[in-house]
Amino acid sequence: MKYYDENIPDVEKDLETSLKTGLSNEEAKKRLEKYGENALASKKKRSMVARFFDQFKDFMIIVLIIAAIVSGIVAQEWTDAAIIMIVVLINALLGTFQEAKSEAAIDALKEMSTPSAHVRRNNVILEIPSTEIVPGDVVLLEAGDVIPADMRLTVAKSLKIEESALTGESVPVDKSSETLPDSEVALGDRINMAYANTSVTYGRGEGIVTATGMNTEVGKIATMLNNADETDTPLKRNLNQLGKTLTIMILAICAIVFIVGVLKANPAERNSTLMINMFLVAVSLAVAAIPEGLPAIVTIILALGTQTMAKHKAIVRKLPAVETLGATDIICSDKTGTLTQNQMTVEKVYYNGVVHSEDQEISEDNPALLSMILANDTQIEEGGRLLGDPTETALIQYAFDENIDVQELLQKDKRIQEVPFDSVRKLMSTVNKFGDKYYVAVKGAPDELLKRVTSVEINGQVSPITDEQKQDILAANKDMAQNALRVLGLAYKYVNKPYDDPTTDNVEQDLIFAGLVGMIDPERPEAKAAVAEAKRAGIRTVMITGDHQITAAAIASRLGILQESPDKNKAVITGAELDKLSDDYFIKHVSDYSVYARVSPENKVRIVKAWQANDKIVAMTGDGVNDAPSLKQADIGIGMGITGTEVSKGASDMVLADDNFATIVEAVKQGRKVFSNIQKAILYLMSCNVGEVLTVFMMTMLGWDILEPVQLLWINLVTDTLPAIALGVEPVEDGIMDRKPRGKKSNFFSGGVASSIIYQGILEGVLVLGAYQFGLHVGPHINNPQLQHGDALTMAFLTLGLIQLFHAFNSKYIHQSIFRKHTFSNKWFNGAILIAAVIMAFVELPFMTKLFDVTELDPIQWLVVLCAGVLMILIVELVKLVQRSMGKR
Ligand code: ATP
Repeated sequence: MKYYDENIPDVEKDLETSLKTGLSNEEAKKRLEKYGENALASKKKRSMVARFFDQFKDFMIIVLIIAAIVSGIVAQEWTDAAIIMIVVLINALLGTFQEAKSEAAIDALKEMSTPSAHVRRNNVILEIPSTEIVPGDVVLLEAGDVIPADMRLTVAKSLKIEESALTGESVPVDKSSETLPDSEVALGDRINMAYANTSVTYGRGEGIVTATGMNTEVGKIATMLNNADETDTPLKRNLNQLGKTLTIMILAICAIVFIVGVLKANPAERNSTLMINMFLVAVSLAVAAIPEGLPAIVTIILALGTQTMAKHKAIVRKLPAVETLGATDIICSDKTGTLTQNQMTVEKVYYNGVVHSEDQEISEDNPALLSMILANDTQIEEGGRLLGDPTETALIQYAFDENIDVQELLQKDKRIQEVPFDSVRKLMSTVNKFGDKYYVAVKGAPDELLKRVTSVEINGQVSPITDEQKQDILAANKDMAQNALRVLGLAYKYVNKPYDDPTTDNVEQDLIFAGLVGMIDPERPEAKAAVAEAKRAGIRTVMITGDHQITAAAIASRLGILQESPDKNKAVITGAELDKLSDDYFIKHVSDYSVYARVSPENKVRIVKAWQANDKIVAMTGDGVNDAPSLKQADIGIGMGITGTEVSKGASDMVLADDNFATIVEAVKQGRKVFSNIQKAILYLMSCNVGEVLTVFMMTMLGWDILEPVQLLWINLVTDTLPAIALGVEPVEDGIMDRKPRGKKSNFFSGGVASSIIYQGILEGVLVLGAYQFGLHVGPHINNPQLQHGDALTMAFLTLGLIQLFHAFNSKYIHQSIFRKHTFSNKWFNGAILIAAVIMAFVELPFMTKLFDVTELDPIQWLVVLCAGVLMILIVELVKLVQRSMGKR
């Protein structure tokens, strides 16, 4: 079926639907079952089994399997072979679990950000997830919508659609609802059709869905949704890079360990058994020391972070945003709806040259009132519920309160044409049948409106407007704005016939000024505290609004935003003034401005760029059709879950489910937490790896006993994954919002992490070697050198394993002392450490000692092992204390 060459009633009949009432809910349900979800088929999910076997493609695992084969078949060490295989299996299981967990978190994110669409069903307008749309659905479109499915347009009011996703043509196409005469029309010329995945840039429309899901035009092109690796983040990529370098370094050390180990051995013992054993030591050391799980752990921590953020109403759409959020320096926020409640109520109305309060009676034929009602897209549902833009619903509510029969008026003065609102021109107008004439109703920003006004109506008399009258109007506007009211101008004119092609140039000219209306939009109660919290955290809040500068300044002042400028008197700038500034000047002086009023979407891009040129990380909110460029330019584009258009949400990195400024500040806090938790996990893992390498390297160099391969593998198993992930879910640290932003150039190793990795790793190694030396001189076997060596090596082994668990506590706070009340508050961490400690101590069970080649230690020897752990904590505490007192942190 083509539909574009059919008349609308035929399309309605073919698709068994009704334009007036839409599908019934039951019918929609039936069709959903029949046609399936309106979504493009995505790549098939890999099963857990397939994922498990994929782990065996990992280089480290292959090396381990080879090691198992060598120890079993070549060296006949079957217990070693078995333990290595157990380690391989557990590693593969952990890998599978990690992957599944991070993928599930990403899927959950996708689900949270599915787009929605407005449909008419059962004669009611509903917002439903786009996936539930079925053929025959009647869909309502407005600027900023992404078209959810292919449809035949039945209404197109100045409707323009950008179809580049489909045709490659980026200039929006003017759409119409007229039937096309030809039956063969190229896709790009089917102007009465709208296609899935394209977007409305202007106007409004309606259509009947003709195809959904894989049957749409885009579905035909994309047989498979290309799932790029969405878990890839810049810092993770750096980590991967670093991991490769580390791997090479560690492999080199392992090679040295192998060569020195063989050369140092007694020539008489230098046989194949020794060679195999040294080979296995080297391999096990490599497996233990290479932080191969780090990128996966980072992804899991990021993904878990997004879940916490979602609980706080911040839906992260792109994983890298979590890292970046924590580094935010500047939050550029819209005013209406984000800092304020977007619940408008009319407070003042100005007409006939006088300001009236909202409870003073207004006559039914007052043109100010008429323009408020007629130039208005509010939908009035049965029962009087008002649906639409709060600015507009407030005006209808005002008319209701004045006992005006709005519905009857809208029936009588039917809308014939319109020029829709857009945020650049800041006006909207309609042409309405008015007896045998036509009434043009216009409303919008008073400054813009006055430019197009030539006359004024006072007490029913229309006369050319004088400069004095204009000044009076501007004074009334200023007065209302200073009281934080949002002011709209109202105008009208009569024409004898509708326009051939209504545009702003012909409709919005030679207008008669009718009045002003001032609405209060109270601040969100939590906004002021959030601005203050951001300030404490070194984050500057900048207000960007389409509203008038005086209204904006009044609200910014109440919220404490204005006070952040060096000079309060210069803190407010309008879009027009901004246009006059040179790029150089603006970049140099961008920090002077805290409030941008009457801005255009292009201004927003410039503001973001100017801050970025000052090396700042910028978060920017946006909701409109034209906000996509600034959302993309910002380091963090923030969309609005409630009022945002689908296009703006699609361009953003994070969406606020509640449109609330305070949520941004909370998300920044969570972002800082996630970043610092990743640092903790890295600090922990890498310092432990340094400790392991140093221990084995020094044992080899000094000709001491060397830890056995199975012992190294066991330590790797116990200490690598669990404590690191548990560090990743540490709660928010006290005072995290009292620090300055971390700076654009920082990475996971900044802020003293790199040096801590090195000194703490060395400390760990020294303590383990110390425990070994101690072991040579204490315990029950002091007279039996062979047993004594066995004890000493056992002590080194247990110390190396357990000291890492002690050290995990150190890693909870990079600079702060761990002796504080929250140290045991992370139950995941406590559990992980407990499990790891039990698994580690497990080797001392009588029937396990043989497997791990360890002796049973007596209490004194155990005490030495535990003392090494305690020392690890005390020494690190001491260093932290010195660092803090030196004022470093
Ligand atoms: P913010 O950018 O903080 O969300 P805003 O909502 O005021 O502020 P816009 O929606 O772009 O930004 O509105 C800009 C100006 O256009 C408003 O100050 C108002 O004067 C005018 N305006 C807003 N909505 C309408 C409307 N529905 N009809 C006519 N004029 C409007």
